[in-house]
Amino acid sequence: MDTEQSHASCLHHCAEFAVRLQQEIDNARPDRTLALLVLHLQRSDRIISLISPSYADVIRQRLWERLRPGLRDQDVAVFASDNECWLMLPGLAAPELVLLAIHRILTTLDVPLMLDSHSVHFSPAIGVAVTPVTGLTSTTMIRMADQAQKRASAEHLRYAFAEQDIKTSLLPENLPKLVAEVIEANALNVVYQPKVDIHTHRVVAVEALVRWPSDHPQFVPVNELIETVERCGMVEALTLQVLTTVLRESSGWQAQGLDVKIWINLSARLLNQPELPRTLAHKLEVWFAASGSIGLEITESALIRDLEQTVEVLTELKRLGFALAIDDFGTGYSSLAYLRRFPIDELKIDRVFVDSMTDSVQDEQIVKSIVDLAHNFGLPVVAEGAERAETVDMLRKMGCDQVQGYYFAKPMPASQLLKWCADFHLKHAR
Ligand code: C2E
Ligand code: MG
Ligand code: MG
Repeated sequence: MDTEQSHASCLHHCAEFAVRLQQEIDNARPDRTLALLVLHLQRSDRIISLISPSYADVIRQRLWERLRPGLRDQDVAVFASDNECWLMLPGLAAPELVLLAIHRILTTLDVPLMLDSHSVHFSPAIGVAVTPVTGLTSTTMIRMADQAQKRASAEHLRYAFAEQDIKTSLLPENLPKLVAEVIEANALNVVYQPKVDIHTHRVVAVEALVRWPSDHPQFVPVNELIETVERCGMVEALTLQVLTTVLRESSGWQAQGLDVKIWINLSARLLNQPELPRTLAHKLEVWFAASGSIGLEITESALIRDLEQTVEVLTELKRLGFALAIDDFGTGYSSLAYLRRFPIDELKIDRVFVDSMTDSVQDEQIVKSIVDLAHNFGLPVVAEGAERAETVDMLRKMGCDQVQGYYFAKPMPASQLLKWCADFHLKHAR
C-alpha cells in the first residue's frame, strides 16, 4: 500500500457505497479477496459533536485525512454516521492482507487527533466480512460486517470477523435446488420469539421466524435462505409453509394456557398478488384457527413500491381478519402521515435504532419520536432488538408498549415456548 499519494475515495452516500460494493462483488475474481470493514469509532468528544453540527464535518474530514494514507487507490470509504466508517478493500491478493489493513487503520487511530484546544481519543472496533464468493449481495455483506463489529464492541475486541463468512463461502452452487427440495419436503423449521408488554410483563405475542432444518447436513443462514427464495420465486411457497407450520405447532397452545397472537413475516413480493389474502385465509379455515390469531409483519420499504395495489391487498387481508404490522420501521423513507393510508395495527421499530439508543442521543430521539407519532395515530409500538435492561427501562419510560429482544428471549422452538412463557409469567407475578 503506497502511503502519501493514495487516491482512495470517500463517497458521500451509503447508497452509492452499496452500489459500488455490489459491482465489486459481481466483478470479483475468484483468486482475489474482497473485504468489507465496518469501523466504529467510539470517540471521546461526542458531546462536542452533538452541540455543534459543523464540528461533525470537521472531524470527518480530519479522520479521512488520517485513514487515507493507509489505503490503496482502489479502496473506497463512506461515513455511515459521525461514528461509523465503512471501507471496501477490493482485489486483495490474499485474505491475510486484510489483517494488514486493519492493523494500519488501528495504528493510525491510536494517536489522538488534535483539534483546536482539545484532543480526540478513539476506541475503535472493526467488523470484517471477507468473501471470495459470488452471489452474495452488498446488503448481506454490510450486515455481516456490522454484526461482527457489534460483537467486537461487546467483547471489547479491536476487530472481529463475521462468523458466517466461512459458512457462506461453503454455500453450495446449487443452493436454489437445495432450498426447493427442503420446501418440497416440508422440512423448514420455525422458531418463536416472545413480544413482551413491558408495562404488565406479559407475553402478548410471538414472532415466527423461519430456520433452515437443523438436521440438514448443510447449514444455510436465514438471510441466505430468504434471499434465495426471493430470487428464485419460491417466496409464496415458503410463506405458506411457515404459516402451516405455525398453525400446526400452535394449535394446542390456547388449551395449554398460552393465548398469544402469532406474527409471521410477509415478503414484499407477495403484496402484488391479489389472490394472496384468500390463499392465506384458506389455511386458517383448514386449521380452524381463529380470525385475528395471526398477524403479518411487512417491512416498511415493501409498502412503497406500488401504493394502490398494496393498499388493496392490505385492506383485503385486514377484512379477512389478519392483523398487520410494519416491520423495521425507521429504515425506509415513509412518514407516518403517509402510512395513514394503510390499515395497520402495530409498528415495529427497527433494531438498529433500539440497539444504540442508550449510547446515542440521536437514536434515542428517533425512537422517542416514532413512539410518540405512532401513539398519535393510535398504534401500539414494538421495539425490536433490545438486548439490555437499560434499553428496556428507557423504552418503558418513553411509553413504548412492547419489546422483542434478546434481553427477554432469543427465538426458540415451539417445544420450549410454553415452558418459557409459564416461567416468565410466574417470575413476574411475584
Ligand atoms: P425481522 O422480521 O425483522 O426479524 C427480527 C430479527 O431480529 C430476527 O432475526 C431476530 O432473531 C432478530 N432479533 C430479535 N431480537 C434481537 C436482539 O435483541 N438482538 C439481535 N442481534 N437480534 C435480534 P432472524 O431470525 O435472523 O431473521 C432475519 C430476517 O429474516 C427477519 O427480520 C425477516 O425479515 C426475515 N425472515 C425470517 N423469517 C422469515 C419468514 O418466515 N418469511 C420471510 N419472508 N422473512 C423471514
Ligand atoms: Mg419481522
Ligand atoms: Mg424487524
